[in-house]
Amino acid sequence: MAETRLHLENISFSYIDKKAIHDVSLDVHKGEFVGLIGPNGSGKSTVLKNVYRALIPDAGNVLFDGKDLFTMSYREAARKIGVVGQENEAPFDFLVEEIVAMGRSPHKKLFDIDTKEDAAIVHHALEHMGMQDMAKRNYRALSGGEKQRVLIARVIAQEADFLILDEPTNHLDISYQLQIFDFVRRLGVTVLSAIHDLNMAALYCDRVYVLKEGKVVLSGIPKDVLTPQSIYDIYGVRCEAALHPVTGKIHITYIPGQFT
Ligand code: ADP
Ligand code: MG
Repeated sequence: MAETRLHLENISFSYIDKKAIHDVSLDVHKGEFVGLIGPNGSGKSTVLKNVYRALIPDAGNVLFDGKDLFTMSYREAARKIGVVGQENEAPFDFLVEEIVAMGRSPHKKLFDIDTKEDAAIVHHALEHMGMQDMAKRNYRALSGGEKQRVLIARVIAQEADFLILDEPTNHLDISYQLQIFDFVRRLGVTVLSAIHDLNMAALYCDRVYVLKEGKVVLSGIPKDVLTPQSIYDIYGVRCEAALHPVTGKIHITYIPGQFT
């Protein structure tokens, strides 16, 4: 078994008036693509925020490369962990290329100027996402899907080898969904990603954890976890699941007419 990069042990977190996750434990091993799935409101984003330090757990431990994540400086963490969160608004007006260049900041000192190498990295990252012609556009004036591609470009420019992604392909058409997941897989980095589309999770994840009402209720390889019975138990939806002859992955077909 490959070494463990991320280890969550009995993480719990409550918002002021609401217990959001309870006793969540999970592991991500080096090189793995691990998916976090579960209904809306089941706690996926909350788990991820407790890892990328937008929130601090009420209880439990987060170990990254065997070390308590909360003892790491933000810069050290940012060199190792890239994040694409779910809310993607920029507080000020920035150009697309400026947003992507921010990915370079953990590698630099406070007043370092961007080098030619940084500029090349930013350019390549934009090119990968098909956004090179939009480098001088205002980020805020982009569509949801374009913003998402810029944020993926930023995380590419960051060159972290562990990525935390929160439904990274929301707002994206199927071509960009596939491109982004293919690209991330090809990078060969370690990934923990919330994914709401179960077929996408089945195609790309090595393992998945299922959250329901803030708890991990199931985990394992997609073909073992994504059975019609478990999908019914988790989502209350009837479906069929079969290994697809071309992909060799489990493919879920939903049955229409069940809510009429
Ligand atoms: P998911 O990402 O799986 O949709 P979330 O982690 O966003 O779920 O939410 C888990 C639960 O916590 C939900 O019941 C949600 O309403 C609640 N919640 C999320 N963010 C906040 C917040 N800022 N304040 C209060 N409750 C929140
Ligand atoms: Mg979420």
